[in-house]
Amino acid sequence: MSDVAPAFRTFPVVLSAPSGTGKTTLAHALVQRGDGFCFSVSATTRGAREGERDGIDYTFVDRSTFAAMVDRGELAEWAEVHGDLYGTPTSELDRAAGRGEHVVLDIDVQGARLIRERVPEAVLVFVLPPSVETLMVRLTGRGTEGAAQVARRLRSALEELAAAPEFDYVVVNDDLEGCLEAIRGIVRAEARRTERTDLLNSGLERIRAEIGRILEEDYANLSA
Ligand code: 5GP
Repeated sequence: MSDVAPAFRTFPVVLSAPSGTGKTTLAHALVQRGDGFCFSVSATTRGAREGERDGIDYTFVDRSTFAAMVDRGELAEWAEVHGDLYGTPTSELDRAAGRGEHVVLDIDVQGARLIRERVPEAVLVFVLPPSVETLMVRLTGRGTEGAAQVARRLRSALEELAAAPEFDYVVVNDDLEGCLEAIRGIVRAEARRTERTDLLNSGLERIRAEIGRILEEDYANLSA
């Protein structure tokens, strides 16, 4: 153990992107590979898609349950997306902080803006698709949506893309591994911001005191 290893604080990592960019895959891959990330399980009124697990991918609730969660102040942010309600339970942020993990929020840009206001230590990353062609393949290839739904998602993609400059970082999801590494790099650098480290407890004062003592004891007769 180093004398001066700073104590790092964890923080939420928000990933936003137009749908069809692959950010949900990215978010889950970050978590599955370990490295101190956990996934924020949102509450939603949307129905489960095939393969989605309640309590793991989303917590699926009806509108009255969602409204009750809002009323009780249980959501750190919430928004209507494509006609359904989605929200981040505050308990997901608390759970991650308690475990010393970075919580990954896969949320839309409205939610990202609210998190920026309410959780200022969060880091916001916007994920871009490598090309419009890839976006179209992902949107139409999913097969779960009809043409009207695809058109709706394309219109909201236009709006979401306009919000990219509000984010702290932009990554391009051209290749999963490269993109994951870019996000991990961002998190590694952010964790080392001086304002996020507990410098006084990190040994900084100890090392300064030690140098001062050496100067006094061994070099006292030498002028500065
Ligand atoms: P999908 O229905 O395709 O899973 O998600 C639709 C959109 O809702 C995506 O952009 C997703 O990131 C976003 N979303 C998922 N969970 C939340 C949430 O808790 N809050 C907000 N604001 N958006 C969310």
